Amino acid sequence: MSPDIASASSLQEIDQRCATLEKEIAALPRYVADIEKQLDAHTRKLDADKAALAANAKERKNLEGVIVDSQQKISRLKDQMLQAKTNEQYKAFQQEITHFESAISKSEDRILELMEAAEPLTEAVKKSDGELAAEKKHVESQKAKARDRAAADQKAIAEAKAKRVEIVAKISPAVYKAYEHVRKRVGVNVVCEVVDGRCTGCKLALRPQYFQELKTATDVRYCESCYRIIYYNPPVAPPV
Ligand SMILES: [Zn+2]
Repeated sequence: MSPDIASASSLQEIDQRCATLEKEIAALPRYVADIEKQLDAHTRKLDADKAALAANAKERKNLEGVIVDSQQKISRLKDQMLQAKTNEQYKAFQQEITHFESAISKSEDRILELMEAAEPLTEAVKKSDGELAAEKKHVESQKAKARDRAAADQKAIAEAKAKRVEIVAKISPAVYKAYEHVRKRVGVNVVCEVVDGRCTGCKLALRPQYFQELKTATDVRYCESCYRIIYYNPPVAPPV
């Protein structure tokens, strides 16, 4: 194999590695944003549950006030009723008492409803409080890991690029130019093996004559269809 092909293969390996690392670096902030968004949603749910629970408690307290107030009014009305002079007066007191008794009964029913509604809310808040603390910790640790990973990736890219410079200094300028030209067009898959007479890059068959030449060529050859750098690996007999 021509040393230029070996160099082009090394360039390709480096470029593929850098592309993978750059992809990972780009994906890390998205991952962090994703878990932060989830945490935010869970925090908002907990806040909403806490607010609902507070509203529930406030309404219960108000209703308890209504009950105490109504009981006091009933007791006063009962005292006044004793002094009723006419049947109409008596009935009027009785009506007022019924009104406050009904208010008490309605308040008691509503308090029961509120107590029932508060039960799952209290459970949810208790559960979320614990879970959220763990989730916050997890998110912080994942963020730190993502930062470390991005830094390690950046370092690996810098090392790979330094190595690339060394290879570029050794490779024939014409081959490098061809490599870069194809890389810009097709991405990282520039150096391709020819298998069964076909370029594995573009999948097209080589001219038979050109394929024969490739088998013994000592210079760099390019696919006539896609201009990728091509090489041929002769079959190796299995060890006996
Ligand atoms: Zn091709």
